[in-house]
Amino acid sequence: MNRLKQHIPQSFLEIHPINAKEQGLEDGEIVVVRSRRGEVRVPVRVTDSVKKNTVFLPMHWGKILGSDLNRANNVTNNLVDPISKEPDFKFCAVAVERYKKRKERIVIVGAGAGAHGFVRSYRELNREDEIVIFSRENLPFYNRVQLPDYISGTQTWQDLVRMEDEEEADMAIDLRRGVSIERIDRAGKYVVDSTGTVTHYDRLILSTGSRAALPKNLPALDGIFTLRSRTDADNFRQRVPENGHIVVVGGGLLGLELAASLREMDIRVSIVHRSSRFLDRQLDALGSQLLHEEIVDLGCEVYYSDEVQLFYGQSKLTGIHLRSGRVLDCDLLVFAIGTVPNIEIAKAAGLEIRRGVVVNGRLQTSDPDIHAIGEIAEYNGNCFGFTAAAEQQAAVLARYLHGDIASHYRGTVPMNIIKIHGFDLCSIGLPESPNSKEYEEIVFIDKARRYYKKCIIHQDRTGRGHSRRRQGRVPAVQGVDHGRHRTE
Ligand SMILES: Cc1cc2nc3c(=O)[nH]c(=O)nc-3n(C[C@H](O)[C@H](O)[C@H](O)COP(=O)(O)OP(=O)(O)OC[C@H]3O[C@@H](n4cnc5c(N)ncnc54)[C@H](O)[C@@H]3O)c2cc1C
Repeated sequence: MNRLKQHIPQSFLEIHPINAKEQGLEDGEIVVVRSRRGEVRVPVRVTDSVKKNTVFLPMHWGKILGSDLNRANNVTNNLVDPISKEPDFKFCAVAVERYKKRKERIVIVGAGAGAHGFVRSYRELNREDEIVIFSRENLPFYNRVQLPDYISGTQTWQDLVRMEDEEEADMAIDLRRGVSIERIDRAGKYVVDSTGTVTHYDRLILSTGSRAALPKNLPALDGIFTLRSRTDADNFRQRVPENGHIVVVGGGLLGLELAASLREMDIRVSIVHRSSRFLDRQLDALGSQLLHEEIVDLGCEVYYSDEVQLFYGQSKLTGIHLRSGRVLDCDLLVFAIGTVPNIEIAKAAGLEIRRGVVVNGRLQTSDPDIHAIGEIAEYNGNCFGFTAAAEQQAAVLARYLHGDIASHYRGTVPMNIIKIHGFDLCSIGLPESPNSKEYEEIVFIDKARRYYKKCIIHQDRTGRGHSRRRQGRVPAVQGVDHGRHRTE
């Protein structure tokens, strides 16, 4: 059954093109199939592999997260021969009609990658539902991933905007900019915003993202920054000193990309990194070594296995003291040491919380009318801190809210791409093969050219891998996504 489901992941109804045309049905639309015994709800596949006036519904689906609306037995019968247990033939007369969803108001909190992905996916399926989005930032949808390039000037604000005002109107969305949600009333199914206005919802989607993590007992000194929003980037950009020295604390993707952008501006940069190598969860030791060489070639000074212990300055930061005893004079310091999910309104509303807001495969929180996507969502014990996961969750949720009960999320394979000009690095899934004979590694390496590709094979399937190469086209990388092969 599992193999079958891997081969055909989702139930469907095959319908002849003439019947589809009569009903005005297009491929992928959700239909309700009714017999005198019951009903199912599935997407259609328009194909002439079935006869006109006959529809075909495969039957190996049972309950999906509590709903049995994909089960063929709902419309046929469940008779079996009492002796051989052979099932009866499964055929019956049915009526097929397009699924008509009740009009709803969907309210979204936050206008980041998750909300943007949801709006685009949902509007491809549904134009009737009302969509209201509250954004704490007084800005259109934009791509925060490009903020380091915005700081260096390589990209303009216009390059970062993901939805122009006219498109907002085309999408029929009501984006309330500069208005945050302060409280959720689950019993009354409404939210209260920062202007005191009450907005009712049928479905509420929380996509409030994260904020930058900061160390405890941080002194209130001018010159200490984080980078999460355009406002952060603007504040920082205004203060970047000519011929100055900036310390970036944290050598993760964000810290390294920011350091590279600052080097493009010819600013002196030091990176203070807590562990002994870069991206130790995404790369193997050789990968980290080659990345280190690249970062040093860019002109960054690197301090591994170190942390900031003291901050110097009266009202303005003038320097730091590291745990190793080193003292660095600096003009500005940026913390890029991780993120903290914005779960406060979910917590106050009594939703189940661990690190993030706990969701099931339908991105549903402990309240079935409230969903969470993006960095605040915790699925199967994991919070996913990258755009691809937020967008994947948004697409799954859009299909589910539009009526596709089989649409459910199963996690996202971690994928990291570093955005440093002239340098390609991508890591998908596990950086090291587990210590087992079931795994093989294929490695291409040319250390002098800083060229390294590794692909991990698990039982003849592409396992995980990462690749890096300097100054050239992006090399092929293979990864695995729930057993399906993927090559890029
Ligand atoms: C500088 C930077 C570089 C990055 N680079 C990469 C990268 O290269 N690759 C990658 O995959 N990911 C990257 N990320 C991470 C990526 O941006 C996030 O994973 C993604 O944006 C998460 O989407 P989200 O919708 O969960 O939250 P966000 O995009 O953070 O959006 C959440 C929004 O909700 C708003 N909000 C919060 N609370 C409220 C409230 N109560 N009311 C109203 N609004 C509220 C916030 O202000 C914010 O605008 C980067 C992030 C940053 C900051």
